[in-house]
Amino acid sequence: MNRNLYSLLAAHFPQDKTAACMILPNGRVWTYGDVERASARIAHLIVALGLQPGDRVAAQVEKTPEALVLYLAALRAGMVFLPLNPAYQRHELEYFLLDAKPGLFVCRPQARALAAELAAQAGVPHVLELDDGGRGSLIDAAAPHADRFDTVARSADNLAAILYTSGTTGRSKGAMLSHGNLAHNAKTLHKYWHFQPGDVLLHMLPIFHVHGLFVACHCALMNGSAMFFEPKFDAARAMELLPQSTVMMGVPTFYVRLLQEPSFGREACRSMRLFISGSAPLLKETFDEFKSRTGHTILERYGMTEGGMFTSNPYEGERRGGTVGFPLPGTALRIVGAGNTAIRRGSVGNIQVKGDNVFVGYWGMPEKTKEEFTPDGFFKTGDVGSWDADGYVVISGRSKDLVITGGLNVYPKEIEELIDAMPGVVESAVIGLPHPDFGEAVTAVVVRQKNAEGRALTESGIIAAIKDQLANFKVPKWVYLVDELPRNAMGKVQKNILRQEYSPTRR
Ligand code: AMP
Repeated sequence: MNRNLYSLLAAHFPQDKTAACMILPNGRVWTYGDVERASARIAHLIVALGLQPGDRVAAQVEKTPEALVLYLAALRAGMVFLPLNPAYQRHELEYFLLDAKPGLFVCRPQARALAAELAAQAGVPHVLELDDGGRGSLIDAAAPHADRFDTVARSADNLAAILYTSGTTGRSKGAMLSHGNLAHNAKTLHKYWHFQPGDVLLHMLPIFHVHGLFVACHCALMNGSAMFFEPKFDAARAMELLPQSTVMMGVPTFYVRLLQEPSFGREACRSMRLFISGSAPLLKETFDEFKSRTGHTILERYGMTEGGMFTSNPYEGERRGGTVGFPLPGTALRIVGAGNTAIRRGSVGNIQVKGDNVFVGYWGMPEKTKEEFTPDGFFKTGDVGSWDADGYVVISGRSKDLVITGGLNVYPKEIEELIDAMPGVVESAVIGLPHPDFGEAVTAVVVRQKNAEGRALTESGIIAAIKDQLANFKVPKWVYLVDELPRNAMGKVQKNILRQEYSPTRR
């Protein structure tokens, strides 16, 4: 049986091929028929270039309909798609090309010279271009090809994509995802979030990442829905499009920014049925404020590159702020102590998952892959968390962000929550910094509000305010007041950057 993911998606495209698939900022519409024809032409081109099923197609391009179509074409032709963040620079690109050895690299015209140089060095035989207007040699070369293509048959465990993890420590690793992995998650989410006829997705996420490319696009395509396909998030633009949309997926920053718009409220959300958040923790205050301003309860879910989504708050039933909900159907999730030992339910431990959505392994790193799986086949996510009393999963952070001070474990989230609740505080990040006596010193980096309460905050005032609520070893030894926290493209706070910036050797 053909398990090519494209075939699954295409089986759900609307009968009426003039139905909209992507609506662009200038009002131009890409119909489902356009998507089928354009992906067929590019699939033919890929084959004509001599690539064989299983070869990699790398793309470092801006978000355009053509970029999404290139992904679909790679699937159709049986290739392995490798999306790359346009922000990656020379040394990162060099690593990815040498590591993945794609048969085709699609780059932006302005990066052509660098791409050609690195491609030659890595033995990548073909380099084509795609610009931010969807033009370039990729499209020109595909134009003469036929607009029908028989999607190449693939089995569930054939690879569909390699996504390099953001790699905040050590080398970035290529997570290999199979057609079966992606199909499993697409089907699960489409059903769990009740996608229905008439849904319109507001798509403002990047498409080089699991969230925007897989979670968002697969749900819309599986539903034959239209997407407002915007190059990036913009709060004012979102306010214009929300009244014509029914579902939005975003990182927490999107919701924070929407709430900063004075006129954002029930009226702007009148046609919406679902707001979904993920990729980074949604602050409880944002969750609560969103509810009181709009009447909508944001649905928070949790997952990662290595397996798509693992948990979700329920569609029906209570969506609980500060939690990421329940394990999704088909995903087994457990929380264990060091050495995979059982721990008391409710205590904080390491989150491990198993299921058809969990990735195949890291590209070219069999040893690393082996290390990251338990003997009974669970993947060690690297996240720490706990079950609440009703079985909702609560994420405390990445295990590598755990602070060990005087031999005692400190979970940053516990302290961040106390600081965040103080008047004048926007948010905070707690990190461990090297300390001669304690090994690591608990350190809080705090973003102040720009009002009088924010200006009144002081280092000693913050320490004094939380001191009585924490065991002594958890009380921050150092506090820094800042205007904002460093975040990556997915809105994640980059604690590695904070650790470097505030390292005692640099102070
Ligand atoms: P990525 O592979 O870039 O998608 O990053 C995955 C990581 O993001 C996870 O391992 C978590 O640490 C974090 N993450 C994703 N969703 C959430 C969430 N809802 N709450 C807290 N952390 C999250």
